[in-house]
Amino acid sequence: MSAVAQLVDTSADTEAEQTDGFHLVIDALKLNGIETIYGVPGIPITDLGRMCQAEGIRVVSFRHEQNAGNAAAIAGFLTKKPGICLTVSAPGFLNGLTALANATTNCFPMILISGSSEREIVDLQQGDYEEMDQLAIAKPLCKAAFRVLHACDIGIGVARAIRAAVSGRPGGVYLDLPAKLFSQVMDAEAGAKSLVKVIDAAPAQIPAPSAIARALEELKNAKRPLIVLGKGAAYAQADDLVRDLVEKSGIPYVPMSMAKGLLPDTHPLSAGAARSTALKDSDVVLLVGARLNWLLSHGKGKTWGEPGSKRFIQIDIEPREMDSNVEIVAPVVGDIGSCVAALLDGMNKGWKAPPADWIETLRTKREANVAKMAPKLMKNTSPMDFHSALGALRTVIKERPDAILVNEGANTLDLARGVIDMYQPRKRLDVGTWGVMGIGMGFAVAAAIETGKPVLAVEGDSAFGFSGMEVETICRYNLPVCIVIFNNNGIYRGTDTDPTGRDPGTTVFVPGSRYDKMMEAFGGVGVNVTTPDELKRAVDAAMDSGKPTLINAEIDPAAGSESGNIGSLNPQSVVKKKK
Ligand code: ADP
Ligand code: MG
Repeated sequence: MSAVAQLVDTSADTEAEQTDGFHLVIDALKLNGIETIYGVPGIPITDLGRMCQAEGIRVVSFRHEQNAGNAAAIAGFLTKKPGICLTVSAPGFLNGLTALANATTNCFPMILISGSSEREIVDLQQGDYEEMDQLAIAKPLCKAAFRVLHACDIGIGVARAIRAAVSGRPGGVYLDLPAKLFSQVMDAEAGAKSLVKVIDAAPAQIPAPSAIARALEELKNAKRPLIVLGKGAAYAQADDLVRDLVEKSGIPYVPMSMAKGLLPDTHPLSAGAARSTALKDSDVVLLVGARLNWLLSHGKGKTWGEPGSKRFIQIDIEPREMDSNVEIVAPVVGDIGSCVAALLDGMNKGWKAPPADWIETLRTKREANVAKMAPKLMKNTSPMDFHSALGALRTVIKERPDAILVNEGANTLDLARGVIDMYQPRKRLDVGTWGVMGIGMGFAVAAAIETGKPVLAVEGDSAFGFSGMEVETICRYNLPVCIVIFNNNGIYRGTDTDPTGRDPGTTVFVPGSRYDKMMEAFGGVGVNVTTPDELKRAVDAAMDSGKPTLINAEIDPAAGSESGNIGSLNPQSVVKKKK
């Protein structure tokens, strides 16, 4: 029986077939190809989750909404369809909101659907169960926010949410569904007619020919051109076009973190290992789905060399991104597939590779940097430091390039980004634009579910703590996720102390913690390792078996620097306290 064909009263044959809010929500989602929902059950959406499952939608229940929200967000990034997160009212909604804001910041399409309390009581502030004006609170944190009050509007509400999430610059959308809506009844036929299948949810946005001509002119005149690939380029799924752009143009490229693997990091034109030189000494930079935010030093300062030494071309779907930090001399507004195809068309009409000495400079620099790092990655010492442990994981990904790497932490993040080469698009998922901690287990669950590939989550011990309870979720759904915890007893390092001697230092954890035991508690595999060889063997075993596994990798507590690579962002006190 289809969801709409719910017969309310079978005895009266004059009675028309009826449907209700529950079924209309489910039918609207299914009509639009939504196959998976991430969430946490509770009032008023417990039955919605059950009924979704009964109707064939996969419902993945988490232990905390933030993790479900992160799962939905990364599902959106991986599939170009909005990831759906379903939460209860007020507190559940608020827990999901961090993920919604993070998705919006990262341009990931997701929809947070939250149940809410009764409007009449909320608006008069009469103290309803979990009372909160959720729509108003969500609005500034997402791309669009909608509330549906009548069952007949569910179809339109869902359609608007989907289109808002994926069209133009993708982002987070909030959909508010008050409890009363779910049991509202309407005629089934009228209900079915009220549903909307979103046609061409993210239409191609073709760049203006004049913008393409301007960009090509800039590139042709460049002596030291550079392409910067961002996660927008990874999201666009225009992988062949992006590779052709690099290879046909012969222009070296630097991938941003989540764009790693769009072309293999071992590609001859990759300047990833010569990043500083490439950014500083280039004269014309083509940004492809990458913003000139803090992660690219706002396009100015020491990172980018002499003031005025740079001309920027930018491909982005969001017109207002242009000139956000510095002048963009050739803005190319459109979707990455269409823009890159148009650039390639232009290049086919005549193109000269960039000067050989620029390519050679970057190649030399890259080889020197790689050679400098190599011995650090090969040490088989105990306790491990970050490099020796990462050396083992680097080999794992080399041997299993289709595995998905989830990565968060401070040193664990910064060093893994540099050490672990990626070979395929959208295989590296990390803390993104905010550098947020807590994405780990949500991303790992969704990556396994959406792609069916093995997942390797490389986690700082602190980072893991933000979503660690989801190891139960990973075991419950029996997902092929291998978590490696870089356990150095604390945040940044495990060596801090309380100067007064009263408490542990603010950045340290219980020394010698055995995170692997957490996995065993839920029936997964737990392993404790102290050398890179043991680490490699344990990860290989996990990936071969596909069993949920957590490896506690003991790292020297003195290894690691404050805030990893971004220690300079910490404000410094100038006041010396008198004794
Ligand atoms: P990174 O952090 O990797 O540099 P950002 O998140 O800063 O990447 O930038 C991604 C950019 O990609 C955003 O400005 C976004 O508008 C853009 N973008 C996302 N999807 C597309 C697309 N399909 N076509 C063009 N631009 C896109
Ligand atoms: Mg640590």
